[in-house]
Amino acid sequence: MKKDTIALIKRAQAFAKPYCVSNGKKFRLKKIDPGDTAGLTSEAKPRAKEALQMGISLLAELQDMLYAQDRWGLLLIFQAMDAAGKDGAIKHVMSGVNPQGCEVNSFKAPSTNELDHDYLWRTHLRIPERGRIGIFNRSYYEDVLVVRVHPELLEKQKLPSRLMTKRIWEERFEDIQSFERYLSRNGVMVRKFFLHVSEKEQKQRFLDRLNDPEKHWKFSAADARERGFWKDYMNAYEDMIQHTATEDAPWYVVPADNKWFTRVVVAAAIIDAMVSMDLSYPEVGKEKLAELAEAKKILLAQK
Ligand code: ATP
Ligand code: MG
Repeated sequence: MKKDTIALIKRAQAFAKPYCVSNGKKFRLKKIDPGDTAGLTSEAKPRAKEALQMGISLLAELQDMLYAQDRWGLLLIFQAMDAAGKDGAIKHVMSGVNPQGCEVNSFKAPSTNELDHDYLWRTHLRIPERGRIGIFNRSYYEDVLVVRVHPELLEKQKLPSRLMTKRIWEERFEDIQSFERYLSRNGVMVRKFFLHVSEKEQKQRFLDRLNDPEKHWKFSAADARERGFWKDYMNAYEDMIQHTATEDAPWYVVPADNKWFTRVVVAAAIIDAMVSMDLSYPEVGKEKLAELAEAKKILLAQK
């Protein structure tokens, strides 16, 4: 590996680390400032954008190896309140990767068919295959977030009544932890991102959407109503992170009031994850080398 690349990897690792929660027990959401930029001022923005570009190129190289090696899968889960910048982060950070090796799935309110299954079912079908990156724009975590904040959604899940106890959220955390451990034991690396936007910044972004005709499509009145449940959501997020942040499947709690900063942290965390896979191109054996030499001879002899 080139010296520059090694330096970039080291910077990425150091950059992502403060936002990584791999043991949730002592996690407190109120200790995380959505406006944090790791001491960088807006003057650092152009340099951050440059660093992001370098990170994106490196990600493309790593993805190429992931694909060629065909052993690991990488699952990236994005959760956030509306307008926190999930879509933009996914779009920018993945802009350099080969679309053939990457799939984005957005999980919305479940369909009637989906409600006839357990809540992990629809997501399990979308777990990335070996050699691929799978991105979940929302995920089974909605089943301990929006469903917890709005208990009438739980009613719709058609569970037998004796299973709907007060322990249901604890049980779901347990099952999610086991599911993610199962995935990681099968070569699917899981990394989870909570883009943490402040209530104030969300309001501003909603207003921007309302004032810009090109952004009207992104807004629905329900989004504004949902803000009324802010506290409930934050409690649900905190409890979720406390119970599901593990070494195997850590949460990155990413300050999201400054989009340029959010994107650098996300890119850095993905680089860190992929570097930890020790990726390399598969080595070709003697026989294959002889076959390649033969093919070259044939090609050169042709007109
Ligand atoms: P985003 O808000 O992420 O940009 P969107 O606005 O395009 O996406 P929506 O139509 O708002 O998409 O669909 C996402 C909605 O689906 C969210 O409000 C989310 O809470 C809800 N949702 C996702 N999973 C579930 C679930 N399991 N149960 C109920 N609602 C869910
Ligand atoms: Mg929405």
